[in-house]
Amino acid sequence: MEAGLSGAEKKAILLAGGSVLLPKDFHLPFKASRSTAGPGAGSVSVVFTFEGLRVKKSISREQGEFELLETVTGLCMTHRGKPFLDMVEIQPTIYHSPEQAFINLHQECIYDCKFCTSPRLGKDATKDLDLDKVRRMIREVADRKDLCAVSITSAVVGSPKATIDEMVEVVRMVRSELGNDIPIGVEPYISEASQIERLKDAGADEIKMNVETFDPEIFQKVCGELDLDWIMEALGHAVAVFGRGKVTTNIIFGLGESDRSILEGVERLAGMGIVPTLRPLRLNEINRPVLEEVLGPIEPVSPERILSLSRRSKEILIRHGLTPTTYRTMCHHCRCCDIVPFADI
Ligand code: SF4
Ligand code: SF4
Repeated sequence: MEAGLSGAEKKAILLAGGSVLLPKDFHLPFKASRSTAGPGAGSVSVVFTFEGLRVKKSISREQGEFELLETVTGLCMTHRGKPFLDMVEIQPTIYHSPEQAFINLHQECIYDCKFCTSPRLGKDATKDLDLDKVRRMIREVADRKDLCAVSITSAVVGSPKATIDEMVEVVRMVRSELGNDIPIGVEPYISEASQIERLKDAGADEIKMNVETFDPEIFQKVCGELDLDWIMEALGHAVAVFGRGKVTTNIIFGLGESDRSILEGVERLAGMGIVPTLRPLRLNEINRPVLEEVLGPIEPVSPERILSLSRRSKEILIRHGLTPTTYRTMCHHCRCCDIVPFADI
């Protein structure tokens, strides 16, 4: 065991590190997740749980910074050859996430955010879905005891309005298939404030619209086609429609921004009633060249920075009486890709 590390410290090392090597001939107890959105997009991943925490990691049969080992008492994990987790389990996902059907409708996007892997995936990795396919997927998992939430995301196809029209239909269908008890989260790109009401009226309970970065220069280089002022305005409107503690947003860190810009952003959002996700940048062979072309060489995110930002964000949330643990959908509920204040630290 790496001496005396807390569960959160181990999770931060996992989040900052590379793949997990599986034992030869190891049979996964559950189907691996082939995500088309989120930090693991394009890779085959598995959710590992240990010490009450969970983390989604890409897996490999050839090499890995971490190695999963079978012992007589179960599974354990090493890190760079040294004992790391003495007990680890593999948790099933429903779609993409444990306990959630988190469905990405489309991957090809009219925008080109440089960190985003989804639009750069090959045709074989994408799963363009329509209303009927999503209905079939929902019916397949409707009776699962572990289904706690449905979340819907999508790249922007054709236009923001066309994508919202489709998402509204999907949310309405999910609500009619599963009834009123299941929480539904949506992660749209909004082009008109009224689209937020439409998603709420269709049956969505929580909404996420992503800021990505509060550093204006980096925003321009990385998501230059989007408009940060508009996203903030839309987030404010979303709080008026969905309520305090029902709206969220991603802030990606590791793009060269300062801690100060992140924490000032958290303060601003918390003041609006929004709990952001602080998401360490995940680099892979798809997004690294595109990002380095606009940002130059990128320093890897350290486990220490992941932990420190999460701790300082927690202090801000405490002052505003907010917590991610009241959210019932999407990443705050999933807890696989970040150090989640209150849940992990
Ligand atoms: S809007 Fe940006 S982050 Fe979202 S899917 Fe399109 S390219 Fe990716
Ligand atoms: S934390 Fe969010 S991005 Fe990561 S696996 Fe869960 S739902 Fe997907």
